[in-house]
Amino acid sequence: MKMKVRNWGGNLSFTPAEIKYPKSENEIVEVIRKANAENRNIRIKGSGHSWTRLIPTDSILISLDQYQGIISIHKEKRLVTVKAGTKLKLLGQLLDSHGLAMENLGDIDVQSIAGALNTGTHGTGTAFGTLSTQIAGLTLITGNGEKIVCSETQNRGIFKAAQISLGALGIVSSYTLKCVPAYNLKYECKKETLEDCLQKLEAYNKENRHFEFYWFPHTNVVQTKIMNKTEEVKKENEILKKFNDVVVDNGVFWLLSEFTRFFPGFSKYSSKISAWGVSTGSYSDKSNLIFATTRMVKFTEMEFNIPRENFIPAIREIQETISNHKIQVHFPLECRFVKEDDIMISPAHGRASAYIAAHMYKGMPYKAYFKLLEDILKKYGGRPHYGKLNTFSHEDFEKAYTNWGQFKKIRNQLDPKGIFLNDYLKGIFKIA
Ligand SMILES: Cc1cc2nc3c(=O)[nH]c(=O)nc-3n(C[C@H](O)[C@H](O)[C@H](O)COP(=O)(O)OP(=O)(O)OC[C@H]3O[C@@H](n4cnc5c(N)ncnc54)[C@H](O)[C@@H]3O)c2cc1C
Repeated sequence: MKMKVRNWGGNLSFTPAEIKYPKSENEIVEVIRKANAENRNIRIKGSGHSWTRLIPTDSILISLDQYQGIISIHKEKRLVTVKAGTKLKLLGQLLDSHGLAMENLGDIDVQSIAGALNTGTHGTGTAFGTLSTQIAGLTLITGNGEKIVCSETQNRGIFKAAQISLGALGIVSSYTLKCVPAYNLKYECKKETLEDCLQKLEAYNKENRHFEFYWFPHTNVVQTKIMNKTEEVKKENEILKKFNDVVVDNGVFWLLSEFTRFFPGFSKYSSKISAWGVSTGSYSDKSNLIFATTRMVKFTEMEFNIPRENFIPAIREIQETISNHKIQVHFPLECRFVKEDDIMISPAHGRASAYIAAHMYKGMPYKAYFKLLEDILKKYGGRPHYGKLNTFSHEDFEKAYTNWGQFKKIRNQLDPKGIFLNDYLKGIFKIA
């Protein structure tokens, strides 16, 4: 029976001809070989948390939900080989049980490791690259079912392409991850003005392992979030936790958002109310538990990477634009900071980076707002997050990445029949 598939954000829904759940690497190879022989297409899904049209297909959809867990661990080198379908939450638990952890993570843990890595998912912290910089090696199954093992020293060209590859080169069956000894993080959030925050930006980034902030549109309020290593474990105060959950993350914020959806003219006041209710406080726990937050209120999102030196002028122009255009938005903008890398089509390729993300409550119009921001961020050298909404064309990607042509060449070699392409990927790689 055919089944409709929806993404988390609810902006994508499609009905593949079949969904396959391979349980081993050999089964992944078999599915690819069969599809190749029958000239059918394949798309591969992680947890469906991307907003861009990466996974839709009317042909075969592969899920690795039944291919999760650790394959092997090299204790001295702290290298851990994991099945590509492993969800981040499970990965965190498994690593912790071996006294290990990821050096950095994004702000949720429901993605599959392959899904997160393939779109360049990142956290925050100027000493850390996107999560894909934590890959030591990987195994890729190409369009004809061939297995390619690659790393910095083996098949390097393919490795640099496969570290972030949108599932366009083939299916990654496993990753070897560079891990670190398990550690605790202390999380602190504060409320301050945007001006103060921008003034202290450099110090915040220099003095803390992880720094980010949320700016509430139509206000001068930001919530800063800082995370640093600690020995102590001081779980979140239960009352504070409840307050945070109720005010910021679900109940009240959902009600406020629903009200705003019906009365968009109220957006400005909803943002002010959210800014007023910003939670402050601190707690500490295992790193994997501190990184992960719960997102119950659904939204649509865009996010761009810009060179870090352009961050302040860009955020100021965005602030002015939202005010001048009286944009009806009450979700805060999230600002994060990431180290440069050398991954072929990474948004952080060759530059110390800042990321600016904008959100709109599910069901509220977002296109005009996102386009205004995209145009601003493009001027500042913006490169979109591959999993988040953007209108970049093949030409835009070619302009933003000197390596776009090289990536395409590798893609075409590994998948000459284009079995891993859907309409969206054909568009951004300009393949007929
Ligand atoms: C609530 C929420 C919070 C988020 N927070 C962050 C954040 O903090 N930082 C950030 O950078 N992003 C964030 N994102 C974006 C998210 O991390 C990315 O969109 C990520 O790609 C989603 O992972 P997924 O497992 O759902 O993959 P999917 O969206 O299902 O797939 C993503 C891509 O991975 C490919 N893929 C999946 N498995 C394989 C495989 N085995 N081999 C090859 N290709 C494969 C797919 O084909 C697709 O191209 C967030 C998204 C949501 C909805």
